[in-house]
Amino acid sequence: MLVDLVQRVVSDPEAATMLALWRLDRDPVAGRVAPERRRELVADARAAGATLARRVRAGQRGPVEARLGLAGVRIVEDDGTEQAASLIHHAVYTSPPPTVTLYRRALAALERVVNTEGLRTSLGDVDVRELILTHELFHHVIAHASAPAGVRPTVDVLRLGPWRRRATIHAAEEIAAAAFVTTWHQLSWPAGLLDLLTLVAYDAPPAVIFATLVEKATSV
Ligand SMILES: [Zn+2]
Repeated sequence: MLVDLVQRVVSDPEAATMLALWRLDRDPVAGRVAPERRRELVADARAAGATLARRVRAGQRGPVEARLGLAGVRIVEDDGTEQAASLIHHAVYTSPPPTVTLYRRALAALERVVNTEGLRTSLGDVDVRELILTHELFHHVIAHASAPAGVRPTVDVLRLGPWRRRATIHAAEEIAAAAFVTTWHQLSWPAGLLDLLTLVAYDAPPAVIFATLVEKATSV
């Protein structure tokens, strides 16, 4: 069941966009984004993440962990309590001092799913820890240089005559981070899929998760 659903995502050229739209929907201010702006917002965020990956990686390979070390980013591992499925946190980047905290249990749960028999055929050999660290490298890069256009879009949350209050759509940064990971590792599938697999790891029924994704994406 899960294998089929994952295979469908992997072979769907629109999957990255669908996953990004799904991620956008989870943002508290997503409802303020005009329907006609959603796809554009998602496309801009993805393009920004991919461009930055190409620029930062600049043809070099080698583990991201070493990259983070050279950049002065400390990696700490946290055994923490089991993360709630709604949070989808494998790691978090904080600064100063630049630090990546890896949540070992969340990571292990995701690794278990990714290593499920049959999924490897669709996903290939995946180093989950490396992908998560790459995601956090993105947050580090934009914390230390200005965020490229598309990564921190804003939307009006209140408008009273000439007075406007705007809020940042934080989901865009996560969508850009996923595109950064996909491009950095030249994955043949969208890294945003890891968010869904994390929900699966926390026992959410795959059919429900994937159905929600498809329904949301096709209603745009
Ligand atoms: Zn993130």
